Amino acid sequence: MSEAKEPTVENERDCVFMGRSHLVVLGAGASRAAFPNGDRHGKKLPLMADFVDTLELRPLLAQWGIDPDRNFEDVFSGIYEAGETDRIGILQSRVENYFGSLQIGDNPTIYDHLVLSLRKKDYIATFNWDPLLLQAYRRNGRFELPKLLFLHGNVGIGYCVKDRTVGVAGARCSKCLQSFTRAPLLYPISQKNYAANHFIASEWGTFKKLLAHTFMVTIFGYSGPQSDQEALSSMGAAWGPVRNRELEQTCFITIQDRDTVLGNFRDFVHTHHYEIDSNFYNSWIAHHPRRTGEAWWNQYLECMFLPNNPIPKDVDFPALWNFFEPFREPERLFEVTRGNRKNFGDA
Ligand SMILES: [Zn+2]
Repeated sequence: MSEAKEPTVENERDCVFMGRSHLVVLGAGASRAAFPNGDRHGKKLPLMADFVDTLELRPLLAQWGIDPDRNFEDVFSGIYEAGETDRIGILQSRVENYFGSLQIGDNPTIYDHLVLSLRKKDYIATFNWDPLLLQAYRRNGRFELPKLLFLHGNVGIGYCVKDRTVGVAGARCSKCLQSFTRAPLLYPISQKNYAANHFIASEWGTFKKLLAHTFMVTIFGYSGPQSDQEALSSMGAAWGPVRNRELEQTCFITIQDRDTVLGNFRDFVHTHHYEIDSNFYNSWIAHHPRRTGEAWWNQYLECMFLPNNPIPKDVDFPALWNFFEPFREPERLFEVTRGNRKNFGDA
């Protein structure tokens, strides 16, 4: 702990003591916010509301006699339940081709800032199929970064069933040297069966354990599991009764209004311990990069006033990496003194 009563930015950076995980959950709104002008070539990141038009599925659905203005989730669900395998295959390949073609641009994005602002004890769990988080992750690999979970699969991820390893699609398993099987995309159908695929089941298993042990959950651009019964029951059971979660903090990064957010997440959020930010750069993560847990502890348990140490959001990669460089040594010392930490270890 720092000696000063009120920590400075340098005190915060140099004082590392939190071992528990910070969990960030990403929905489609996060990719839209991170890439407001689309990918490198201007290809847009869809929300469920504009999914059909973004992927240019309107003529195809019309040709099949399906109302293109229906929610894609309902459309796919209907085709799936009717057992129309040809149409399922066509839709799947259209979706895979679209997301598989997306490429990140040259400049730092919210996803670069996000992965750099968390530590290897932390997790990002995404519902998104696009590969842009993974592309941001790979180009910042000089730093120790959080672990990633793909709750609905991802076009950029592969896995080896035998060795339980996960890696970039197209690469080989480091143990058996076989090519990874590409992770499936979990389609929005009303009867989800997460357990049907080993990779997805494993991602959810880790996610549920995290929900029970994390000190902070940040929900970014995800409007909740209300139309997703299996996600709802998984998250409800894992997060535990609302009354038992008095110390943990939940942060929402969303452009939805407060009433909508609290309505969607009423089963999860303790009455007072939440904040809602409309912009990533106003969030706890962006104000306390790589020290979200320490800052949380100091502010909420030690009642200290904390100055922000904001991510420099408008600089290029060399300047961005320079900003994060001094965070390394205190983290290394923490690891040395505390030994290898458990995934879900205590503070
Ligand atoms: Zn293998």
